[in-house]
This record gives sequence, structure tokens and C-alpha cells, in this order.
Amino acid sequence: MPVKLRITLLFTVLAGLILGIVCVFVYYYFENSRTASIKTRLTNRAITVGRLLSQREIFSNELIRRIDSSTSFVLKNNVILAYNSNNQKIYSYSSLTGDSLDVSQQLIDNARKRGKITFTAGNKEAVAYRYVANGMELVTIAAGEDAEGKEDLHSLFNILMVSFLAGLSLAGLGGYYFSKRLLKPINKIATDVKDISAMSLSRRLVTGTANDEWHHLSTTLNDLLNRLQESFDIQKRFISNASHELSTPLTSISSQIEVSLQRERNAGEYKEVLQSIYQDVMHMSNLTQTLLQFAQASGTPGGLEIALVRIDEVLLRLPSEVVKANKGYSVLLNFDELPDEEEGLLVFGNEHLLFTAIKNIVMNACKYSNNHQAVVWLHSTEAGLKVVVEDKGIGIPEEDLPMIFQPFYRVNDNKQREGFGLGLSLASRIINLHKGRVEVQSELGKGTTFTIHLPGAKQFISEGKS
Ligand code: ADP
Repeated sequence: MPVKLRITLLFTVLAGLILGIVCVFVYYYFENSRTASIKTRLTNRAITVGRLLSQREIFSNELIRRIDSSTSFVLKNNVILAYNSNNQKIYSYSSLTGDSLDVSQQLIDNARKRGKITFTAGNKEAVAYRYVANGMELVTIAAGEDAEGKEDLHSLFNILMVSFLAGLSLAGLGGYYFSKRLLKPINKIATDVKDISAMSLSRRLVTGTANDEWHHLSTTLNDLLNRLQESFDIQKRFISNASHELSTPLTSISSQIEVSLQRERNAGEYKEVLQSIYQDVMHMSNLTQTLLQFAQASGTPGGLEIALVRIDEVLLRLPSEVVKANKGYSVLLNFDELPDEEEGLLVFGNEHLLFTAIKNIVMNACKYSNNHQAVVWLHSTEAGLKVVVEDKGIGIPEEDLPMIFQPFYRVNDNKQREGFGLGLSLASRIINLHKGRVEVQSELGKGTTFTIHLPGAKQFISEGKS
């Protein structure tokens, strides 16, 4: 059911409930006060007749009847009866000729016992009253029809019914109008969001000035759009950079082939061209490998092979692997202040990716220092493990520091050195994926220190349990 209809219904039901309670209350209040007033009148009439009958020496039945007939009374078709202590009818009067009231013995006894009882007989309301005076004990009964009161009650019922139905319809209309107004901004937001596509991601929702829930929703959606646009832009930049990096060696390969095919060459010349092409192909292969690793590290850890990894063992592989990549590079490992227990050296993660991340940073330390040497420290801390990679190299200019983790970013002065500008960005993605972080400190001409913080396996295990 649409929300608009649900609000309208809720509003109508609530208003109907309140109106209904008020109507029922008014009706019963009126009915109660009517019957109370009729009872008082009938009781007074019964007492008066009792009083007259107790003065037999002054009032005969005929006289009392005359008094009864000349007394104006609100009720119609009155009947007045009186019984003596032997339950014999000693007086009767009816304003309508031939009219009477069926009174049982039991009813008279009841009145005698309780002093006063009220009852109804057909359309008549009646009171039976025990009257004691001048040594006489009588039961007088006064009855009559409250036609006027009942008519008023009926009119009141009609008025209340009409008011209730009119109120209900008004509440329905009001509820519909109210819900339409209330939901108007959300419809507007939905239409605006529908118009925003990948092509128009720069568009934003109008947030308005009122500090209400709709404003909050629009600003939250705008924040989401900002983040989406940002990641779209990053992706676009990434794709254009990657295509550029791939097309450069491809252009070089095709032009080398084209030039060498223009005329006959000797074997040495062909070999030279092939070697150059081989280098370009290796460059492309390295780049595609790095891009693949990038894609792997860009997702969630869900698809990765996760295991307990001993970080000291990962670091121990570095010296040989770095030398394998470049014979001139060297790595010095420092494992002081290590915990005695093995658990203190464990992290939860993907060993291959962790090795790639640390190796990238170590390779940079060798690449960007004259002695081509990286010094690696392993520390155990409260929060987990800390790997520090130091070099005494060229350093990084302060203004470049915030950008070096962006994909394809390279410091201008170092562009002649081999690289794609992806190593640090890949490393920081991998470390982030492992819930860690990378910090950098650098001084131009003196050297650079990268610090990798990784949460210890204990923390992951306790998070997994909670
Ligand atoms: P690259 O392939 O260019 O090395 P990276 O993403 O690994 O790409 O590094 C980005 C840039 O950061 C490098 O081009 C380099 O200018 C700078 N850089 C990274 N590590 C160091 C370091 N240890 N010393 C000096 N500069 C560094």
C-alpha cells in the first residue's frame, strides 16, 4: 500500500476514533441526565399522591384524581396507582382512558423492601415508592411516557451521526492533503535522483533551507553523489593513465618494426631491434602484472586467500628477491626487540599481497638512493606490528608527499628512472585491505622512511569472535 494512502488511512482512523468516543460520551451523558430527571419527577409525583392519600379525611379518591388530572406533567399517558399494606389497590388514575399498568405482587413487595424502585413497562418509565405517614404504609406508583425526551434523544443521535460522518470525511480529505504535502519533497528527491546518471554525476539535489529530515536526506544523498563522482573521476583517470602507459610501448614496438621493415637489414640489426622490442614487451608485461595485482587489491578481502602470516618470514624473503630483481640492490634486516612468542609476529592476511606491498616500498628505497640499500626494521607494538623501511636516498619534496600514493603519480625529477607510478599506490591499497596504514617521512637529500602499521592477528581473531 502506498505510504500516502497509509498516512491518510491512519489519520482518518485516528480522527474517527476520537470523534466516535466524543459522540458516544455526549449521547450517554444526555441519556443519563434525561432518565435522572424523569426519575426525580416520577418520585415527586408518587410522594405527592402518597401524601394526599394519607390525609383521607381531606382528600377523597375523586378529589385526588381531579388534582392529578389538572396537574401539568412533562410525561404523557400517565398512570398513578396506590396499594395499601395488604397489597390492595386503593387508588388508580390514568390520563388516557382505559390505560393501565401491569403491576405484579413481587414488584410491590420489592418496593416495600427497598423503599424505592424504578422500572420500565412498555414505553412507560415508572417509579414505585414506599410511603409511610399517619400510621399508614402505602406503595405508590407513578408512570409515564417521556415522548419529548426520547424525541430529543433521537434528534441528538441523528446530529451526532451526521457530525461523525462529516468529521470522518473531513479527516480523510485532510489526511490525504496532509500526506501529499508531507511526501511532496520525497517525490521531488526521487525524480531528481532518477535524472542523475553516470553522464550527469555532477548534478546535485536541491537541499532547501529548512533544517528537517528531507534536508538531511538530500544532503546525505549529495554526499553519496560526491563520493561516487570522486571514485568515477579516479577510475577515469586510472583508465586513461593505464591506456597511455600501455600505448607508449605499443607505439614504440610498431614504429621499430615499421622502420626495420623499410629495407633489408643484416642479422645484427634485426637482433638489436628484437632486443629493443623485447624490452618494451617486458615493460608491458610488468605493467599488466601490476594492473592485475591492483585489481586484486582493489576489492574486498572477501575473495582473497586469507591465512595467518608470520611477518618475519615474509621479510626474510626480501634480500634474495630484491637481488633477483636488481643485482645492485641490497636489503639489511633488523629484528631487534621481537616478542618471544610466535603469536606476536602473526598477522591475518594474504601472504603474497603483503610481500608485494613491502617489496614495492623496499625496491623504491633501493631505487631512489645512491647506495641502493634499504634498511628494514620489524617492531612489535601494542596494536600489532610495525615494519619500517629506511633509505639514505634522494628524499621526496614536501609538496609531493600527499600525492605519492595516487596511482601513476611520479615525482617530476625521477621520471627518467624506471617505473609506472603504481608501486606505492598498490602497496597502500594492500595495507589498507589488511586494516593497516602506511606513513611516510622524508627529507630532501637525506633519505626517506616508510612505516607500515599492521594489526596483529590477535585483534582480528577477537573481532571475528565478536
Ligand atoms: P614508481 O614506479 O615511480 O617508483 P611509486 O608509486 O612506487 O612509483 O612511487 C611514486 C613516486 O614516489 C616515485 O616516482 C618517487 O618519485 C617517489 N618515491 C617513492 N619512494 C621513494 C623513496 N624511497 N625515495 C624517494 N622517492 C620515492
